[in-house]
Amino acid sequence: MSDLKLRDVRKSFGAVDVIKGVDFDVDDREFVVFVGPSGCGKSTLLRMIAGLESITSGELTIDGVRENESEPTERGLAMVFQSYALYPHMTVEENMGFALRVAKLPKHEIAEKVRTAAEVLELGHLLDRRPKELSGGQRQRVAIGRAIVRNPKIFLFDEPLSNLDAALRVNMRLELMRLHKQLDATMIYVTHDQTEAMTMADKIVVLRDGLIEQVGAPMALYNRPANVFVAGFIGAPK
Ligand code: ADP
Ligand code: MG
Repeated sequence: MSDLKLRDVRKSFGAVDVIKGVDFDVDDREFVVFVGPSGCGKSTLLRMIAGLESITSGELTIDGVRENESEPTERGLAMVFQSYALYPHMTVEENMGFALRVAKLPKHEIAEKVRTAAEVLELGHLLDRRPKELSGGQRQRVAIGRAIVRNPKIFLFDEPLSNLDAALRVNMRLELMRLHKQLDATMIYVTHDQTEAMTMADKIVVLRDGLIEQVGAPMALYNRPANVFVAGFIGAPK
Protein backbone atom coordinates (compact mmCIF):
# COMPACT_ATOMS: atom_id res chain seq x y z
CA MET A 1 0.00 0.00 0.00
CA SER A 2 1.23 3.47 -0.72
CA ASP A 3 -0.64 6.66 -0.70
CA LEU A 4 0.94 10.05 -1.09
CA LYS A 5 -0.58 13.41 -0.25
CA LEU A 6 0.79 16.89 -0.84
CA ARG A 7 -0.82 19.86 0.89
CA ASP A 8 0.21 23.40 0.02
CA VAL A 9 3.75 22.23 -0.71
CA ARG A 10 6.17 25.02 -1.58
CA LYS A 11 9.81 25.30 -2.54
CA SER A 12 12.00 28.37 -2.74
CA PHE A 13 15.64 28.57 -3.73
CA GLY A 14 16.75 31.74 -1.95
CA ALA A 15 14.31 34.45 -2.95
CA VAL A 16 13.04 32.48 -5.96
CA ASP A 17 9.74 30.64 -5.50
CA VAL A 18 9.82 27.55 -7.69
CA ILE A 19 6.88 25.53 -6.31
CA LYS A 20 4.17 27.89 -5.17
CA GLY A 21 1.70 25.76 -3.24
CA VAL A 22 0.58 22.46 -4.76
CA ASP A 23 -2.07 20.02 -3.56
CA PHE A 24 -2.73 16.57 -4.96
CA ASP A 25 -3.04 12.91 -3.99
CA VAL A 26 -1.45 9.86 -5.54
CA ASP A 27 -3.41 6.70 -4.82
CA ASP A 28 -2.02 3.22 -4.35
CA ARG A 29 -0.98 1.66 -7.70
CA GLU A 30 -1.80 4.75 -9.65
CA PHE A 31 0.30 5.85 -12.64
CA VAL A 32 0.54 9.62 -12.24
CA VAL A 33 2.24 11.85 -14.80
CA PHE A 34 3.52 15.37 -14.10
CA VAL A 35 3.51 17.29 -17.34
CA GLY A 36 4.40 20.87 -18.16
CA PRO A 37 6.90 23.01 -20.03
CA SER A 38 10.60 23.04 -19.24
CA GLY A 39 11.37 24.99 -16.05
CA CYS A 40 7.86 24.72 -14.55
CA GLY A 41 9.14 22.77 -11.53
CA LYS A 42 8.48 19.11 -12.40
CA SER A 43 11.91 17.83 -11.34
CA THR A 44 11.93 19.92 -8.19
CA LEU A 45 8.55 18.49 -7.18
CA LEU A 46 9.72 14.93 -7.86
CA ARG A 47 12.94 15.50 -5.93
CA MET A 48 10.96 16.77 -2.94
CA ILE A 49 8.81 13.63 -3.02
CA ALA A 50 12.01 11.56 -3.22
CA GLY A 51 13.51 13.40 -0.25
CA LEU A 52 16.42 14.66 -2.35
CA GLU A 53 15.25 18.22 -1.83
CA SER A 54 13.82 19.73 1.36
CA ILE A 55 10.31 21.20 1.44
CA THR A 56 10.20 24.91 2.20
CA SER A 57 6.66 24.71 3.59
CA GLY A 58 3.57 22.54 3.42
CA GLU A 59 2.98 18.90 4.16
CA LEU A 60 3.93 15.71 2.37
CA THR A 61 2.63 12.42 3.75
CA ILE A 62 3.24 8.86 2.62
CA ASP A 63 0.85 6.28 4.07
CA GLY A 64 -0.26 8.88 6.57
CA VAL A 65 3.30 9.46 7.83
CA ARG A 66 4.52 13.00 7.60
CA GLU A 67 7.86 12.98 5.80
CA ASN A 68 10.41 15.62 6.55
CA GLU A 69 13.91 15.00 5.33
CA SER A 70 14.25 11.25 5.54
CA GLU A 71 16.31 9.55 2.85
CA PRO A 72 14.41 8.25 -0.19
CA THR A 73 15.30 4.63 0.60
CA GLU A 74 13.73 5.06 4.03
CA ARG A 75 10.63 6.39 2.31
CA GLY A 76 10.29 3.21 0.27
CA LEU A 77 10.80 5.09 -2.99
CA ALA A 78 13.21 4.59 -5.87
CA MET A 79 14.04 7.15 -8.52
CA VAL A 80 15.08 6.60 -12.15
CA PHE A 81 16.92 9.51 -13.76
CA GLN A 82 16.99 10.76 -17.33
CA SER A 83 20.76 10.36 -17.41
CA TYR A 84 20.52 6.70 -16.21
CA ALA A 85 23.46 7.42 -13.83
CA LEU A 86 24.96 3.92 -14.31
CA TYR A 87 28.43 3.17 -12.98
CA PRO A 88 30.60 2.74 -16.10
CA HIS A 89 33.12 0.39 -14.51
CA MET A 90 30.49 -2.00 -13.16
CA THR A 91 28.70 -4.77 -15.03
CA VAL A 92 24.93 -4.79 -15.45
CA GLU A 93 24.69 -7.23 -12.55
CA GLU A 94 26.86 -5.05 -10.31
CA ASN A 95 24.98 -1.90 -11.28
CA MET A 96 21.65 -3.51 -10.49
CA GLY A 97 22.84 -4.91 -7.16
CA PHE A 98 24.70 -1.82 -6.02
CA ALA A 99 22.12 -0.39 -3.60
CA LEU A 100 21.59 -3.84 -2.10
CA ARG A 101 25.34 -4.28 -1.52
CA VAL A 102 25.41 -0.89 0.19
CA ALA A 103 22.48 -2.06 2.34
CA LYS A 104 24.59 -5.16 3.18
CA LEU A 105 22.06 -7.75 2.04
CA PRO A 106 23.41 -11.32 1.89
CA LYS A 107 25.06 -12.14 -1.45
CA HIS A 108 22.61 -14.88 -2.43
CA GLU A 109 19.67 -12.56 -1.77
CA ILE A 110 21.19 -9.84 -3.95
CA ALA A 111 21.85 -12.35 -6.75
CA GLU A 112 18.27 -13.60 -6.52
CA LYS A 113 16.73 -10.12 -6.65
CA VAL A 114 18.96 -9.07 -9.54
CA ARG A 115 18.13 -12.25 -11.46
CA THR A 116 14.39 -11.74 -10.99
CA ALA A 117 14.54 -8.08 -12.08
CA ALA A 118 16.75 -8.99 -15.05
CA GLU A 119 14.17 -11.55 -16.19
CA VAL A 120 11.33 -9.04 -15.92
CA LEU A 121 13.37 -6.58 -18.01
CA GLU A 122 14.78 -9.18 -20.43
CA LEU A 123 18.33 -8.35 -19.40
CA GLY A 124 19.23 -11.87 -18.27
CA HIS A 125 21.69 -12.42 -21.15
CA LEU A 126 23.45 -9.08 -20.56
CA LEU A 127 24.39 -9.35 -16.88
CA ASP A 128 28.16 -9.46 -17.57
CA ARG A 129 28.22 -6.45 -19.90
CA ARG A 130 29.31 -2.96 -18.98
CA PRO A 131 27.14 0.10 -19.78
CA LYS A 132 29.23 1.14 -22.79
CA GLU A 133 28.47 -2.25 -24.40
CA LEU A 134 24.71 -1.64 -24.21
CA SER A 135 22.21 0.22 -26.38
CA GLY A 136 20.38 3.25 -25.03
CA GLY A 137 17.25 1.22 -24.39
CA GLN A 138 19.20 -1.49 -22.58
CA ARG A 139 20.90 1.10 -20.38
CA GLN A 140 17.55 2.57 -19.50
CA ARG A 141 16.30 -0.89 -18.57
CA VAL A 142 19.31 -1.37 -16.27
CA ALA A 143 18.48 1.94 -14.59
CA ILE A 144 14.91 0.72 -14.08
CA GLY A 145 16.29 -2.61 -12.83
CA ARG A 146 18.25 -0.82 -10.14
CA ALA A 147 14.97 0.61 -8.90
CA ILE A 148 13.06 -2.70 -9.14
CA VAL A 149 15.52 -4.69 -6.99
CA ARG A 150 14.76 -2.35 -4.11
CA ASN A 151 11.09 -3.29 -4.30
CA PRO A 152 9.92 0.29 -3.72
CA LYS A 153 6.38 1.27 -2.82
CA ILE A 154 6.61 4.11 -5.29
CA PHE A 155 8.73 4.48 -8.45
CA LEU A 156 9.74 8.00 -9.46
CA PHE A 157 10.78 8.64 -13.07
CA ASP A 158 12.26 11.91 -14.27
CA GLU A 159 11.98 12.05 -18.07
CA PRO A 160 13.46 8.55 -18.33
CA LEU A 161 12.94 8.21 -22.07
CA SER A 162 14.00 11.61 -23.33
CA ASN A 163 17.50 10.42 -24.35
CA LEU A 164 16.10 7.64 -26.55
CA ASP A 165 15.18 7.88 -30.22
CA ALA A 166 11.51 8.08 -31.14
CA ALA A 167 10.93 4.41 -32.05
CA LEU A 168 12.61 3.15 -28.90
CA ARG A 169 10.64 5.65 -26.83
CA VAL A 170 7.40 4.09 -27.99
CA ASN A 171 8.64 0.61 -27.08
CA MET A 172 9.85 1.69 -23.65
CA ARG A 173 6.57 3.45 -23.02
CA LEU A 174 4.72 0.18 -23.56
CA GLU A 175 7.28 -1.66 -21.46
CA LEU A 176 6.83 0.74 -18.53
CA MET A 177 3.07 0.34 -18.74
CA ARG A 178 3.51 -3.44 -18.69
CA LEU A 179 5.83 -3.15 -15.68
CA HIS A 180 3.35 -0.96 -13.88
CA LYS A 181 0.77 -3.75 -14.14
CA GLN A 182 3.19 -6.57 -13.47
CA LEU A 183 4.82 -4.99 -10.40
CA ASP A 184 1.54 -3.71 -9.00
CA ALA A 185 3.39 -0.51 -8.08
CA THR A 186 2.64 3.17 -7.76
CA MET A 187 4.50 5.20 -10.37
CA ILE A 188 5.05 8.94 -10.68
CA TYR A 189 6.42 9.92 -14.04
CA VAL A 190 7.70 13.33 -15.16
CA THR A 191 7.67 14.35 -18.80
CA HIS A 192 7.28 17.39 -21.03
CA ASP A 193 5.89 15.09 -23.75
CA GLN A 194 2.10 15.32 -24.12
CA THR A 195 1.87 11.98 -25.96
CA GLU A 196 3.60 10.16 -23.10
CA ALA A 197 1.27 11.80 -20.61
CA MET A 198 -1.87 11.01 -22.60
CA THR A 199 -0.97 7.37 -23.28
CA MET A 200 0.55 6.33 -19.96
CA ALA A 201 -1.26 8.17 -17.19
CA ASP A 202 -4.15 7.15 -15.00
CA LYS A 203 -3.97 10.73 -13.78
CA ILE A 204 -2.20 13.78 -15.16
CA VAL A 205 -0.99 16.73 -13.09
CA VAL A 206 -0.51 19.74 -15.38
CA LEU A 207 2.08 22.18 -14.02
CA ARG A 208 2.90 25.68 -15.11
CA ASP A 209 5.30 28.03 -13.40
CA GLY A 210 5.23 26.23 -10.04
CA LEU A 211 1.45 25.86 -9.85
CA ILE A 212 -1.02 23.14 -10.81
CA GLU A 213 -3.31 24.13 -13.67
CA GLN A 214 -5.41 20.96 -13.56
CA VAL A 215 -5.43 17.37 -12.28
CA GLY A 216 -7.45 14.66 -13.99
CA ALA A 217 -7.65 11.59 -16.17
CA PRO A 218 -6.23 12.09 -19.68
CA MET A 219 -9.59 12.10 -21.44
CA ALA A 220 -11.11 14.42 -18.83
CA LEU A 221 -8.35 16.95 -19.48
CA TYR A 222 -8.70 16.47 -23.21
CA ASN A 223 -12.47 16.90 -23.22
CA ARG A 224 -12.82 19.40 -20.40
CA PRO A 225 -9.61 21.43 -20.09
CA ALA A 226 -9.80 23.94 -17.24
CA ASN A 227 -8.29 26.74 -19.30
CA VAL A 228 -6.58 27.72 -22.53
CA PHE A 229 -3.16 26.62 -21.25
CA VAL A 230 -4.30 23.05 -20.54
CA ALA A 231 -6.24 22.95 -23.81
CA GLY A 232 -3.17 24.08 -25.73
CA PHE A 233 -0.81 21.78 -23.91
CA ILE A 234 -2.86 18.58 -23.95
CA GLY A 235 -4.61 19.23 -27.24
CA ALA A 236 -1.55 20.03 -29.29
CA PRO A 237 0.85 17.08 -29.54
CA LYS A 238 4.26 17.81 -31.03
P1 ADP B 1 11.47 21.24 -14.89
O1 ADP B 1 11.93 19.91 -14.37
O2 ADP B 1 10.00 21.37 -15.00
O3 ADP B 1 12.14 21.61 -16.18
P2 ADP B 1 12.90 22.27 -12.57
O4 ADP B 1 12.18 21.71 -11.41
O5 ADP B 1 14.17 21.63 -12.96
O6 ADP B 1 11.89 22.36 -13.82
O7 ADP B 1 13.21 23.80 -12.30
C1 ADP B 1 12.21 24.72 -11.95
C2 ADP B 1 12.84 26.06 -11.69
O8 ADP B 1 13.63 25.99 -10.50
C3 ADP B 1 13.77 26.53 -12.79
O9 ADP B 1 13.59 27.91 -12.96
C4 ADP B 1 15.14 26.21 -12.23
O10 ADP B 1 16.09 27.11 -12.74
C5 ADP B 1 14.95 26.40 -10.74
N1 ADP B 1 15.83 25.56 -9.93
C6 ADP B 1 15.84 24.21 -9.91
N2 ADP B 1 16.78 23.74 -9.05
C7 ADP B 1 17.38 24.84 -8.52
C8 ADP B 1 18.43 25.03 -7.55
N3 ADP B 1 19.03 23.99 -6.96
N4 ADP B 1 18.77 26.31 -7.28
C9 ADP B 1 18.15 27.35 -7.85
N5 ADP B 1 17.16 27.23 -8.75
C10 ADP B 1 16.77 26.01 -9.10
MG1 MG C 1 13.22 18.50 -15.17
